[in-house]
Formats: sequence, C-alpha cells, structure tokens
Amino acid sequence: MTYWLGIDVGTGGTRALLVDATGKIAGSFTGPHEDIHMERPLWAEQRPQNWWNAAQQAIIGALAQAGTSGRDVRGVGLSGQMHGLVMLDALDEVIRPALIWCDQRSQAQVDAINELLGKDTVLSCTANPVLTGFTLPKLLWVRDNEPAHFARLRKILLPKDYVRFGLTGEHATDVADASGTSLFDVARRTWSVEMTERVGVARSHLPEVLESSRISGRITSSAAAATGLVEGTPVVAGAGDQAASGIGNGIVESGILSCTLGTSGVVFAYMERPEYDAEGRVHTFCHAVDDAWHVMGVTQGAGLSLQWFRNNLAPATNYDALTREAATAAAGAQGLFWLPYLMGERTPHLDPAARGGWVGLTAKHTRADLIRSLMEGVSYSQKDCLEVIQQTGVAVESVRLSGGGARSTLWQQMLADIFGKPVAILENQEGSAYGAALLAMVGTGEYSSVREATKAAIREVGVCEPRLGDQEIYDAGYRVYRSLYPAIKAASGCQM
Ligand code: ADP
Repeated sequence: MTYWLGIDVGTGGTRALLVDATGKIAGSFTGPHEDIHMERPLWAEQRPQNWWNAAQQAIIGALAQAGTSGRDVRGVGLSGQMHGLVMLDALDEVIRPALIWCDQRSQAQVDAINELLGKDTVLSCTANPVLTGFTLPKLLWVRDNEPAHFARLRKILLPKDYVRFGLTGEHATDVADASGTSLFDVARRTWSVEMTERVGVARSHLPEVLESSRISGRITSSAAAATGLVEGTPVVAGAGDQAASGIGNGIVESGILSCTLGTSGVVFAYMERPEYDAEGRVHTFCHAVDDAWHVMGVTQGAGLSLQWFRNNLAPATNYDALTREAATAAAGAQGLFWLPYLMGERTPHLDPAARGGWVGLTAKHTRADLIRSLMEGVSYSQKDCLEVIQQTGVAVESVRLSGGGARSTLWQQMLADIFGKPVAILENQEGSAYGAALLAMVGTGEYSSVREATKAAIREVGVCEPRLGDQEIYDAGYRVYRSLYPAIKAASGCQM
C-alpha cells in the first residue's frame, strides 16, 4: 500500500494522518503539546522543540496505527498554527520560546508600524491590516524588549516550519502561512520588499517561500532514525492551517465556501484575485492552490458560546442534550437574541472590547429558547462574515460545514436557513492534516493539481437545503441582530 502523511502542528497537539490515494484514512495519532506558557497577561508562548518532539511521536503513532512502515510513505505535507514567531541563531538553535498566534503583547509595535508606514501602505503591501496576533509586531517586540535575543537572530520560521527543519534541515515556508506575517506581499506571492526594508528586517532572516505543493526538502538520515520515515522521502511546503483546512474541505473553486464551527467560527472562501476589504474586516491570504487566494472572516466566540453555556449553566449535561432541548423551541426563539461577543469580535466589528449578552429576554422564555437563541446568534455572526466576504466580490452558491458544531443536525439546518444556501457535510472531518496530505499527493505527482486531488478524495455525505418558512423568520431576525451591536456598543464600553 502507498500512503501520504499529513502533519498538522496545532495548538494543543501535533497530529499525523496517513491517507491513501483514494483519500481513505489509514491511521492517525496526536502527540500532545505542553500547556501554553502564559507568564503575563496577553503573553502566550510554546517551545518549538516541544512541537518537534510531538511530531516525532505523532508520526511513529500514525505508522503503528496503520500497521505500516515509513517505506510505504511516498510524501509528507505540513500544516500548522499560523502567525507564530520562531527565532533561530547562527547554529540553528532556538533563541527563545515562540510567541504564538494568540499572543497579544505587541500593540505598541502595531501602532509603531502603522505610524511609520501608514495603515493604507500596510494594507496595499500585505492585503491586510497589521494585527497584534501577526508575526512582524511580535518580532519588533523582541527587538524592543530583548535586544540580546534579537542580536542573535539569523532565521525566522513559522511554527510548522520548525518541524520541517527537524525533518529536512531546510529553512522554508509556504505562501499561505507567510501571508499571516505582515511581511508578505500577498498579491505578488513574495516577501514584501517595502515592508522588510522600512521596518528593518533583513531579507536573509526570512526563509525561502514556496507554493504549497512544491517539494521543500527531503527526510534526513537523523529524522528517519527519529520517526521511522525513510531518508530521502519528499516533504512538500504545505500550508498554514486555515488554507490547509480549505484544501481538506475542498474549497478550491469559486462558489463553495466552508464554515467551520469550532471554538471560534471561520467562514472561508476561494478567490481568483487578491481582493481585500478596505476596512480589513476579513483576512485575504494566498491559498494553497497556485495563483489563487482565500478570504476568511472569524467569529471569536462561536462554539465557545455553547461551551460557556454548558460549563456555567448546565454542567451536568452534554452538547447533544442541549441541542435536542434547543430543537423544542421555535425558530426565532420567541424574539430572544444572543450576541456571541464573549471574547470581543473580529469580523465584522474588529472590536476586542465588544461584549456578549442576551437581548429581548422576557418571563415567557424557557431554557430551550436560551440555547436556541445562542445557536442562532452564532449563526447570525457567521452570516456577518459571509456578507463581508460577498462584499469583496465572492459569489456564494453552497457551504460546507465542519468543526464540532457540525455534529448537530439542528445547527446544520439552522445555518442553511440563515445563510439561505445549501449546507453540506463531508465524509471526512480531518481538516488541515488531511489537506496537508493531499498537498503531498500533488507534490509527488500522484495527482496533477490540487483540484484533481480534492475531486478524487473529498465526498459530501449529506446536504441541508434552506426551508422557506424558517428562512423568512431568520431574515427578519438577522435585521434585528444587525441593529443590536451598534445599540449596545456604548454601554458595553462602560466596564465596571
Ligand atoms: P476546536 O475549535 O477547539 O478545535 P471543535 O472543532 O471540536 O474544537 O469544536 C468545539 C465546539 O463544537 C464546542 O465548543 C461546541 O460548541 C461545539 N460542539 C461540539 N460537539 C457538539 C455537538 N455534538 N453538538 C453541537 N455542538 C457541538
């Protein structure tokens, strides 16, 4: 048998997945990571060496689970958490723990970049505003606060690219992951000369950047000894986790979007040209498909809303029981609305200080209405993402749903009704590790293009069509929902 290995360097763990040429999963294993180290508020760090150890464990585990050996693996693809900062010195030693995607300490550096270049220049150079989560302001934080560390810097890598370094000894990244650094010219798919020169980042400190399905290096003899893979096995560039999960969900042509209802909620669309939102409410990044881009909007507190409800208001129950209860309430939850801004909001408000809450509560409302309104509010906020994406010129014909929330048939139907689009469920919910394996198939010549690979491997197993009656109720509900954030914004700013 022949397999391809997809490796996803997540936040909680690194997952390895073995896939055959028809897209069937033969084995998988997750090597857990240490907890995120949060020494101070807003700080979030992980040790790159821990990712590499977890990756070795995951590869060994996946091979064992499939009952196979590295001799059957034809190629490896990488995916991982985006925006992190890994710093290597002249001996390729890690200089300090990585500042990861959710590290928010760099507001002063974001302000300094905007002042130096102007927000419009940043947007035209990188297709996105610079955010505290992105890599460049993190690097400038180290420059400003840890000059001795900065002085040792010879190479910057993104998280999954440290695992690539462990596997191949190469310093390389891919266009999709590079897009989230604020150093990358997303329209031209190359490091931005203007950004790097004006902020003073040496070109030699940046890794080589490749299209996602290109071979970036080969397994070294020491990596072979550590993982059970065979020396010389090709490793393709891969992609940041969002783009890789776009491949895993088959979002490789115009018209089909994905909606991932995890802890946060992401609406993701394919783009033929790098259009961006002038207000920066959605991210425009290179896709893991040559000459294509993707745009995505994020609801911070999507599945988190239901998780918060369960943990605080219904601790003895589970998600299936909660959604069964919600199904007993009528669409529209008798005029009750939930604002899911438990962690501020990205799309469309870009307001870290936004606050959540119920609006419209009366004595007649039941717990079923509370849960239903919460699921509806999350769905409306995902519709907000869909609307901004449509405003960038993207056509939407159908949606593929994944993430923990996709397990609920109520949520599937509700999203179809609220989006007014068919919502499909996929046979395979592995997302980014699966996408990384498909990219490896393309890079090793099993398929001639990413589109051909996704057509062969990805199958829809069910579709919810929008239902007219509920759609009308939700259209009216969405208009009310849209009016609520502006109405409560001033009050939610008054923190006590
Ligand atoms: P993460 O985003 O952390 O990787 P998941 O994709 O598994 O995690 O999503 C977790 C969220 O999915 C939970 O917070 C919960 O809101 C939702 N969820 C999980 N299982 C169910 C279920 N059976 N029904 C409805 N929602 C669910």
